[in-house]
Amino acid sequence: MSWLNDWCWSNFAIHFQHEVRVDTYDAMQRRGMGFFDDKQTGEIMSVLNNDVNQLENFLTGTFNQAIRIIVRVGGMGAVMLMINWRLGIVPTLAIPILAVASYSFYRIIRPKYREVRSAVGSLNSRLENNIGGLMVIKAYTREDFEAERVEEASGEYRDTNWDAITTRIIFFPTLQTITHAGYVATFLIGGWWVMFGSPHPFFQGTMTAGTLVMFLSYTNRFIYPMRQFGQILNDYSYAEAAGERIYGLLDSEPAIQAHADTVELDTIRGDVSYENVYFSYETNEEQPETVIKDISFRAESGQYIGLVGPTGAGKSTLMKLLMRMYDADSGSIRIDGVDISDLHPQQLRDAISYVAQEPYLFYGTVRENIAYGVDDIDEEQIERAARRAGAHEFIRDLPHGYETMVGERGVKLSGGQRQRISIARAILEDPEILILDEATSHVDNETEAVIQNSLEDLIADRTTFAIAHRLSTVRNADTILVLDEGELVETGTHEELLEEDGLYATLWSVQVGEVDELPEEFLERAQRAYGINLD
Ligand code: ADP
Repeated sequence: MSWLNDWCWSNFAIHFQHEVRVDTYDAMQRRGMGFFDDKQTGEIMSVLNNDVNQLENFLTGTFNQAIRIIVRVGGMGAVMLMINWRLGIVPTLAIPILAVASYSFYRIIRPKYREVRSAVGSLNSRLENNIGGLMVIKAYTREDFEAERVEEASGEYRDTNWDAITTRIIFFPTLQTITHAGYVATFLIGGWWVMFGSPHPFFQGTMTAGTLVMFLSYTNRFIYPMRQFGQILNDYSYAEAAGERIYGLLDSEPAIQAHADTVELDTIRGDVSYENVYFSYETNEEQPETVIKDISFRAESGQYIGLVGPTGAGKSTLMKLLMRMYDADSGSIRIDGVDISDLHPQQLRDAISYVAQEPYLFYGTVRENIAYGVDDIDEEQIERAARRAGAHEFIRDLPHGYETMVGERGVKLSGGQRQRISIARAILEDPEILILDEATSHVDNETEAVIQNSLEDLIADRTTFAIAHRLSTVRNADTILVLDEGELVETGTHEELLEEDGLYATLWSVQVGEVDELPEEFLERAQRAYGINLD
């Protein structure tokens, strides 16, 4: 029976833990990017790992025990009351007293355990941050500084934990005292009754030594599990704190949901239009800064649109809105005339490919990274995509070619190589809309020429948005959108914008080295933007 009991509980607990973890992860990844902006990776990891494990501990150990105790205490209590209910009341009186004491303990310990769980999260975040930034720590020889910060985070965990422990260790002896008082009272009253007759009119009838011995043996077994009750309540409070954190992640609406009126188009052409779009990131400030201000433009299917402007102008944000990483505060963004919030989320994401400035490679082979998440793709297609992205040559020279492991713990690739793999990924996806976020910023001039060549091929039959610092990348764009401080300040082709002699013309002349001295207006803008004095 013991084996069967363990088997059933453990089986239930590990499967429960697995389901909770998978569901929590899925709910977490479906949340909007805004959720992750103010969360640390380590914090989320600690929920998915430590807190979920905590639930398993509770289920295999404590919950199982709780049921046994309830059955035992209930059973023993009932037998004692049946044999002699008047004496039986004495030990069972401990139950309501115990309940009141336990409830107070629970009220006090609960916030303490919440603090402990939160300190575990902070400690994890600190460790995760430091491991990620080890290069910087070493380069600036900040080992002592970081050791101190880890000590601080670990110290917070130690202190909150100690605070909880000191409460707990007061509670357990209190509980024992209450239960043992029940035992002693039964012994004294019962003993008196046997030896001198009823000690009080309430205890009527006679009591034999045999009944008393049996009573005491039952009381003993009745009291022992009641002492364990404290441990259970303690574990429950701890698991509850973990559970609250899990539900914080689990119990949320996905950022993007298909609703009843969701439109699914047969094909997407790739016309994109923005109409009076405003957006600000949710921050802790009362009046968050509006990052996108009243932006309207149209891009027809197949056009190549360049996005330029100073750092922080809002170029990346504008594109994140198109992918619905965030939703605009007002105005509308349409694809083929359909508001993106009405378009089926899967269709929206399938239609758009994104090549980031800092491309991310997953731990896996080069081939898996190019064919990311797509199964039925043959070798030839992957190689063709790699060739078009100018990546085939360097991949071939890797130790295991396309089967070389890359990403964390894999072969280290340069920024340019990662970018080319990421471009190959986008080529293979063959999207209707392509977003290149400074996609060629890491590559040398020669590779850029190769990519530009293949880009021409790539952008020919799809709508492409290219965010560029290197203006030569967007020189041939059908339209260039010039952004400054969240506003669309100029629109036109390269020639038209030079003609206009505004911000774009200035940026261009700075980049091609036509000006020895920057115009006054440019410096003023820089001073405004960065709050520095260039005089
Ligand atoms: P660009 O791509 O033109 O360099 P961004 O779109 O990245 O500019 O940023 C525009 C503005 O939005 C900047 O002021 C930046 O600080 C702010 N910003 C960008 N990302 C976030 C974020 N996740 N949370 C809050 N503010 C952000």
